[in-house]
Amino acid sequence: MFAILPAMSAGIPLSCQRGTTVVHDYGAILDKIPVLRVLLMNDVKEAQLSINGSYQITGSLTNIIDQGQGLQKTKISASNGGISIGNKRYDNSELRITGLRDGAIELNNIRYRGEIRIVQQFNNKFSVIEEVDLESFISGVLGSEMPQTWNEEALRAQAVTARTYAMYKKKVRRNEVYHLDMLELAYRGMSSESPRLNKIVQDTKGIVMVYDWNIFPAYFHSTCGGHTEDVGSVFGKDSMPPLSGVACNYCNNSKYSRWSTDVSKSEIERRLRDANIYVSNISTVKAIDPGAGKHGSRVEIVSADGSKEMNANDFRLVVGPNYLYSTAFDSRNNGQSITFTGRGWGHGVGLCQYGAQAMAEKGFQWAAILKYYYPKIELVRVY
Ligand SMILES: [Zn+2]
Repeated sequence: MFAILPAMSAGIPLSCQRGTTVVHDYGAILDKIPVLRVLLMNDVKEAQLSINGSYQITGSLTNIIDQGQGLQKTKISASNGGISIGNKRYDNSELRITGLRDGAIELNNIRYRGEIRIVQQFNNKFSVIEEVDLESFISGVLGSEMPQTWNEEALRAQAVTARTYAMYKKKVRRNEVYHLDMLELAYRGMSSESPRLNKIVQDTKGIVMVYDWNIFPAYFHSTCGGHTEDVGSVFGKDSMPPLSGVACNYCNNSKYSRWSTDVSKSEIERRLRDANIYVSNISTVKAIDPGAGKHGSRVEIVSADGSKEMNANDFRLVVGPNYLYSTAFDSRNNGQSITFTGRGWGHGVGLCQYGAQAMAEKGFQWAAILKYYYPKIELVRVY
């Protein structure tokens, strides 16, 4: 993958509404759309496969070992060094299934555009990886990560953000079996695509954000609650200007801007225990060491076992990100439960989605939105 070098900058001026912006175009840095390896299923015992139209199956090498016309819904399983599709057994540790037209392959009722790889794992389990071109992947992510009805400038900003994140992952995991786990970005194959979203992705085709001419992990989240957070305080990674946090007065309308939730102590203790953290009779849970956006970077849990600290974002994910919305919280001990009162939803780093939508509604263009939430970036078209 590339470190992008600034040479022969032509520059494509885009609409200047609410902020002048230029997408640098250096010609073909990449000669074609990159292919992304996405982990769809990890270590499973079975999956349902169906194929619409002609298909072929190859092993880990390119030799064709089977082909056919359509396949009714059938079970994939793995056993004793082979992979079975329905009653047919293949003595291969990997199968690659290619449909000969878009969206021919359906796995567990979700259609995928790419080539599907079934890779055997230990204990008669297997994993499934899709090899899909990056633009199709972004079309599949967009409608799952942001409401499809939102302003198209916000959706364009989200498309560039997701593309940048995926390209970064492809770069850092280039030698790994897969680049991206589908749990990292909401992705459901073709099921959330629509002509409107595909057009919005197409409008920004090949455009990514770079800082200092390098791609970076363009994190994003639902609602920051007033100020986005520094990547260093949430993930312990080196801080950098695009991910150091900015004031955000745009997400006040999000229902997650201010929230309060009551969680029983026994539930918190049970969930922590499942994550191998043992506490009993909690008296206080405190978010400490806040970063620029006032999200706690660590959590101090005082219990009968004394005081324990852990990473605040890990605590949020363990306890439940769907009700402990962020780590920007105060808490109160109610005897049987703890009441958390907080701001925002998500880790708080990078683009604030509700903020992006409000900016778009005020007339800001997608590039201006990105330059607001990721200071000091450049926009570059790489293919
Ligand atoms: Zn915000």
